Amino acid sequence: MRTHTDAVLVKAEYKGFSGIGEATLPPYLPDTVESVSSFLQNLEIGIESDILLPSRIFDDLDNRFPGNMPAKAALDMALWNLKSAMEGKTIAELMGVSASKIVPHTYTIGICSKEEMRIRFAFAREHGFTFFKLKLDGKQDRDILDNFKALTDLPFAVDANQGWTDLESSIAFARELEQQGCVLIEQPFVKSDLALSKALRDTISIPLIADEACQRLTDLEKLKDSFDGINIKLQKCGGITEAMRMITQARELGLQVLLGCMSESSIGCNAAEHIAPLCDWADLDGPWLIENDAEIQKATLF
Ligand code: MG
Repeated sequence: MRTHTDAVLVKAEYKGFSGIGEATLPPYLPDTVESVSSFLQNLEIGIESDILLPSRIFDDLDNRFPGNMPAKAALDMALWNLKSAMEGKTIAELMGVSASKIVPHTYTIGICSKEEMRIRFAFAREHGFTFFKLKLDGKQDRDILDNFKALTDLPFAVDANQGWTDLESSIAFARELEQQGCVLIEQPFVKSDLALSKALRDTISIPLIADEACQRLTDLEKLKDSFDGINIKLQKCGGITEAMRMITQARELGLQVLLGCMSESSIGCNAAEHIAPLCDWADLDGPWLIENDAEIQKATLF
């Protein structure tokens, strides 16, 4: 159980304009509030004329310093927001993204009791969600599916979080998921076992989406035969700059795209929303999974 997620908010200011970004730090990442703060505080960012070129700043930092992806994501978001404020355009407009297309957005239900699932489902419905993502663990999957189907016939995705191990039982369960209205299966097997993913993918028709196996742009080529799509998260790939490149390459490789998050507040999720129309599905429910989103928004009006 997780009671909270640490985060660092970053503000970029220039000539009276400002932009904000967010680094989110769930406990399974090596990055911490201290590592993000120290990375950003010790940073020297190129020359002033680059300030309106967030991609150039991202590439420069990425070449000079490996890792630190959440810190890079927070800075990249802050700089895109700054550019957006200075040029009087939304990030979507800067990217040439038509905001008119609304892709299906999931609400994630973690592994929980039947009663808790009922409460979370009701909360999500109250907030307009009609599409769900169920977390599985390879042990309670049958109960989780039954509990959800007892509540609704609305479409859903599943995220096995690398919890499946056996090909035959996975094929049988995936076929049943398909009949029950499952739209996609995220990261069924351990991220390194691409052969197992390929074997499942070649047998079933629900799209298989890589999450843990897909961190950055450089991962896409090796995943294209084992998955049907990828889960892009700004915190994994270092921000909007690389996420845009990943979407472009995914399309060239014929991969579908889910745009996900790591329990960011609406600061981090809004940054992703700008490019969501380019994707097939969005999982940007962070603001609904934390209790203090309004507080965070208020605090950023400094
Ligand atoms: Mg996942």
